[in-house]
Amino acid sequence: MNRQYYELIVIGGGSGGLAVAEKAAQLGRSVAMIEGNKIGGTCVNNGCVPKKVMWYAANLAHAVDDASSFGIPAQRGATDWQRLVEGRENYIDNINRYWLNHVDDSTIVRVQGHARFTGASSVEVNGRHYSAPHIVIATGGQPIVPDLPGANLGITSDGFFELSRQPGKVAIVGGGYIGVELAGMLRAFDSRVTLIAREDRILEHFDDMVSDVLASEMRKQGIVIETGFEVAELQRLDGGTVVVGTDGNTLEGFDTVIWAVGRRANTASLNLEAAGLLAGRDGDIAVDAYENTAVPGIYAIGDVTGKTALTPVAIAAGRQLAARLFNGEIGTRVDYNNIPSVVFSHPAVGTVGLSEAEARAHHGENAVTVYETSFQPMRYALSEHGVTTAMKIVCVGDNESVVGVHLVGDNVDEMLQGFAVAVKMGATKADFDNTIAIHPTSAEELVTMKVARPAADDQLDIPGEWRKAS
Ligand SMILES: Cc1cc2nc3c(=O)[nH]c(=O)nc-3n(C[C@H](O)[C@H](O)[C@H](O)COP(=O)(O)OP(=O)(O)OC[C@H]3O[C@@H](n4cnc5c(N)ncnc54)[C@H](O)[C@@H]3O)c2cc1C
Repeated sequence: MNRQYYELIVIGGGSGGLAVAEKAAQLGRSVAMIEGNKIGGTCVNNGCVPKKVMWYAANLAHAVDDASSFGIPAQRGATDWQRLVEGRENYIDNINRYWLNHVDDSTIVRVQGHARFTGASSVEVNGRHYSAPHIVIATGGQPIVPDLPGANLGITSDGFFELSRQPGKVAIVGGGYIGVELAGMLRAFDSRVTLIAREDRILEHFDDMVSDVLASEMRKQGIVIETGFEVAELQRLDGGTVVVGTDGNTLEGFDTVIWAVGRRANTASLNLEAAGLLAGRDGDIAVDAYENTAVPGIYAIGDVTGKTALTPVAIAAGRQLAARLFNGEIGTRVDYNNIPSVVFSHPAVGTVGLSEAEARAHHGENAVTVYETSFQPMRYALSEHGVTTAMKIVCVGDNESVVGVHLVGDNVDEMLQGFAVAVKMGATKADFDNTIAIHPTSAEELVTMKVARPAADDQLDIPGEWRKAS
């Protein structure tokens, strides 16, 4: 049998796969990277990148709505969906081309096709055989379509990015971050949007304050949010698709239904048994803190592990694994604590560290001090569509070590990164207070919060930047 040998085989050319392959090749190792679909994986093709383009478009739509109150004549017409999608796809094609050229210019051997294991150190792709002492599984995940009657009447986030026409009336099932992001964008483009969550609040894994403020802002925009609604089936009627709940209640008349109910790891077709590996219930591959699977020489990184499913996490895991395996950096591994993340909702959410509830559960009620504020940024001073910004700092112990920062509002997506550095470094509330504010900004609120749990008359309605200036 004709077989090709490498020092490293990487299955999957997404965020994690590219990172580990690139770093190993830079360290002089022979690497084959196998990709069954488009290079760049979920982030580039049906995740962060197309999502963020749509999010920017939605921001512009909101800005146009406010422009005339600042004396800038502007009026919105219908969104040119085709133009938006065409521009987005061209942008993605450029990124795909960049990665193809980058990989082809490197020493990485690119193999196009789906890999399946034939042993603990060998895989097969389109009838060709490849072996390596180190194999990294970086196959990511795919959206779940629930096993319910009529479920195929709905699409997923992948299908959303394939839509050639803007939905008119859309139901999004799932109150997690992908659900709220899609809801915010579509509403900004003037689709009629219903967001359906099984839980009693959206973004249930986030701090309560974030869920509450975001839900209130989304409702102000006209998004219908149905919480505590568990979908039992979808039916097609003349008037559109009907969403039927387990309690018999129905939501009707949708031209589009989008499932945003979670993701499942891509392992079903990997023939893991041949390698002596077993997948977990959601298809994910269990790894230890160093991304080792149960089989020596096989590793897994990124979404396929069921750990924090974010692009920079997959990239960090890939780079650190290569450094450990091929550069003698024995103890190198990703620290999964205090990973900052942003939800590109409207308005955005930014969060790092423990929620207030988590901090109380971990450290005890009396050890926790919470500072929070809520205000309308100066951006809305002349506009009638004010969007609330809310911030919470969760502190622990007598020295008020900051263990959580939770933000919702305009620009928090760009605000969070620097504060995440501070939290990671173990900053205290006094460190925040001793940092001179940048005025007039919304971010300055984070270094000027004086009173734990502000009294009622110190909340809302007073533009934050003005309040501090006075
Ligand atoms: C709608 C959406 C929005 C998102 N937004 C963000 C965001 O704003 N910020 C953020 O950080 N993260 C975001 N994510 C998550 C992010 O996309 C993932 O965390 C990241 O892509 C994970 O990288 P990965 O390498 O683990 O997997 P992937 O990027 O999914 O790459 C896996 C690759 O493996 C390939 N593959 C699978 N099976 C095989 C096989 N048998 N043989 C060969 N190749 C195979 C696939 O084709 C794919 O290209 C978003 C995800 C979605 C769905």
